[in-house]
Amino acid sequence: MIQPEQQRRAYLQAMGIDVWLPRDAEEPAVDSERPPAMDWPELRDCVANCMRCELSESRTNTVFGVGNQQADWMIIGEAPGAEEDRHGEPFVGRAGQLLDQMLLAIGQARDKVFIANILKCRPPHNRDPKPAEAEACRQYLERQIELIQPKIILAVGKIAAQNLLGSDDPVGRMRGRPHDLGGIPLVVTYHPAYLLRSPSQKHKSWSDLCLAQRLVAEGSA
Ligand code: URA
Repeated sequence: MIQPEQQRRAYLQAMGIDVWLPRDAEEPAVDSERPPAMDWPELRDCVANCMRCELSESRTNTVFGVGNQQADWMIIGEAPGAEEDRHGEPFVGRAGQLLDQMLLAIGQARDKVFIANILKCRPPHNRDPKPAEAEACRQYLERQIELIQPKIILAVGKIAAQNLLGSDDPVGRMRGRPHDLGGIPLVVTYHPAYLLRSPSQKHKSWSDLCLAQRLVAEGSA
């Protein structure tokens, strides 16, 4: 059972705030790297106030994630762009519209799935996330996955797939086959922003979505 004082300390640490203890104080019995198992409101609050990395200085809004907290499908992208930073919601720009269409094609409306990113804050000029930023943010996504317990995770794009699977492989080598993320089936596909630039690759994403759909059906059988 986590005591309120331990919980408070863990939240402050998660937010990047130093916690000073008297020299003779008892060691806190929590893992300082990981806040206690937060519920949705606590997690949302922690993300909204997060200062674990320098992206907190340049963001307009944190982008927590959106959708059904009991979703079967969890979609994980890279990081918020300019539109997402402005609205505080993932995938609302042109790539997001294509993602919505892709999901609808397999019968998954945006509000039926849960959509999140590796990073909750926009990297300036949409540069790639730095490893330290992804690491600082990871516990939030991990807790979202724990709370949702989706039947399938769809990693869209290289950054999402590489971070989730701890791999350096290109998408072309990771897509088209099932992976496992702590017991949850995971499918990698191309990022919708890439598909906007390379529409000839859309058929591959379609087959990845069909694979994901099959894995959900097999898991539910
Ligand atoms: N690209 C992403 O990976 N995520 C977003 O939220 C928007 C664009």
